[in-house]
Amino acid sequence: MTTPDTDVASNFITKIIEEDMANNRYEGRVHTRFPPEPNGYLHIGHAKSICLNFGLAEQFDGIYNLRFDDTNPSKEEVEYVESIQDNIRWLGFDWEDRLYYASDYFEQLYEFALKLIKDGYAYVDSLSAEEMRAYRGTLTEPGKESPDRNRSVEENLDLFARMRAGEFKDGEYVLRAKIDMTAGNLNMRDPVMYRILHAEHHRTGDAWCIYPMYDFTHGQSDSIERITHSICTLEFADHRQLYDWFIEKLDIYAPQQIEFARLNLTYMLMSKRKLLRLVEEKHVSGWDDPRMPTLSGLRRRGYTPQSILDFAERVGVAKANSRIDIALLEHHVRQDLNKRASRVMVVLNPLKVVITNYPEDKVEYADAVNNQEDLSQGTRKVPFSKTLYVERDDFQEQPHKKFFRLSPGREVRLMHAYYITCNEVIKDEAGNVTELHCTYDPETWGGSSPDNRRIKGTLHWVSANHAIEAEVRLYDHLFKTENPNAVEEGQDFTVNLNPNSLAVLNQCKIEPSLAEAKLGDNVQFLRKGYFTLDKDSTSDKIVFNRTVSLRNTWTKVKKKR
Ligand code: ATP
Ligand code: MG
Repeated sequence: MTTPDTDVASNFITKIIEEDMANNRYEGRVHTRFPPEPNGYLHIGHAKSICLNFGLAEQFDGIYNLRFDDTNPSKEEVEYVESIQDNIRWLGFDWEDRLYYASDYFEQLYEFALKLIKDGYAYVDSLSAEEMRAYRGTLTEPGKESPDRNRSVEENLDLFARMRAGEFKDGEYVLRAKIDMTAGNLNMRDPVMYRILHAEHHRTGDAWCIYPMYDFTHGQSDSIERITHSICTLEFADHRQLYDWFIEKLDIYAPQQIEFARLNLTYMLMSKRKLLRLVEEKHVSGWDDPRMPTLSGLRRRGYTPQSILDFAERVGVAKANSRIDIALLEHHVRQDLNKRASRVMVVLNPLKVVITNYPEDKVEYADAVNNQEDLSQGTRKVPFSKTLYVERDDFQEQPHKKFFRLSPGREVRLMHAYYITCNEVIKDEAGNVTELHCTYDPETWGGSSPDNRRIKGTLHWVSANHAIEAEVRLYDHLFKTENPNAVEEGQDFTVNLNPNSLAVLNQCKIEPSLAEAKLGDNVQFLRKGYFTLDKDSTSDKIVFNRTVSLRNTWTKVKKKR
């Protein structure tokens, strides 16, 4: 785990761009892109990449593209294309009319391939996938040339045209770059450029039965779009040499690739393949399950775009892979919500309180400030009456030493309302406490007494007759280990799932103002955390998600270090 660098305004990438600007490289332009493969939902790691790519363009008065690198028809779906756009807009970025698809370049890429064949830089190979692997060699042994490597240009052109025309079955032939089977960089050992795949593509339908490989698509797509700085994650460093080779042999515009370290977070997984398994095997309710690291999940959980932008800026960019403490992300969520969220009173685990000396049918309305941090959010009226609910764990019959809340004979403050004293504890036959009988001091309305007597405990409460019942979902990390990928031999990452990541509370009592809550609203349940309405809510069932508790674990983490 690492503590991120707090010097975020400049980093090694901004230094490169500043230098390029100073040297008038790319005529002073900065043009970046975010290039997702539409084979899953975006996660917080992608958000980091979006903030970096788009943020840099904004910082240098440049522009940015959104481009789907959709070269793999079998795993791609329109659902993903839509969710990705929706999530990026939610983060607050606007690519205007610059939405592209690598599949728009299929014809151009085909032309590029023809040029390489004609120039003697590509050949059609009939080795099977297995043979090709065997011929490839290893890091310590050079590879072996395919018998097909020296086919004539005419023969290659003919076979490639027939591949496109659909004369062959999947896997019968591939088109390979003719580079160097002894290269130290394995990516340079005659990589495959095209394969035969009789599969329907989400955009081009059945127009093609050959598809370019990602490595023959990505760099040229950046070139076609005249991207200046192609920012990507470290695993592409070994591919840069190949991308540069294609660009050079094709003699086309050359972007500059810059690699940075992937974002990893404790207790979270960032592999789309594994996230897809969680969805398919129903370990979670879907891609937008509030425990998922996906933007759809975090959004449903109540995370704000601003908190994610702040976090992304705070972690900066690194050149070496590391794992960031998830407490830092939660810290930014709390910081943002503290300013934004109205405070309300909700009792999660209710215990009935009867104020014995309060008139039967009387209702008074307390003026409650919505947000101490932002008085412009105004006040609201909270009804108070004879029968209330308080939190069950705000009462102890035999209070331990540091417990200052309700117990027999003890006086506490009901927030925004009166001081009450507990006189009697009512129990059922099994000995469970079912209600408390208390008296109130009429001189203490508003939460203070004329004699300024000292009260240690302040409780939140809800008037029983006015309360609305709701379901509240509390979340813990989806995985119980800091690195969910780490498993013993023969085990699957799912062994690290936290069986207690979701707790559902069914009989919560929420104050009536929350009947008006809308999807996307953030509220603080006083003393309980930040919450947001869940999309499962219906006209007869209200459901809230806890976004994050109030306890700031990040400051604790920092102190420990
Ligand atoms: P997979 O999960 O299968 O590895 P991917 O993360 O490569 O997929 P892409 O759709 O190709 O998914 O990612 C789009 C962009 O987001 C790429 O430029 C990639 O480098 C970047 N990216 C992906 N994961 C992270 C991460 N954890 N941190 C930062 N950037 C990331
Ligand atoms: Mg990728």
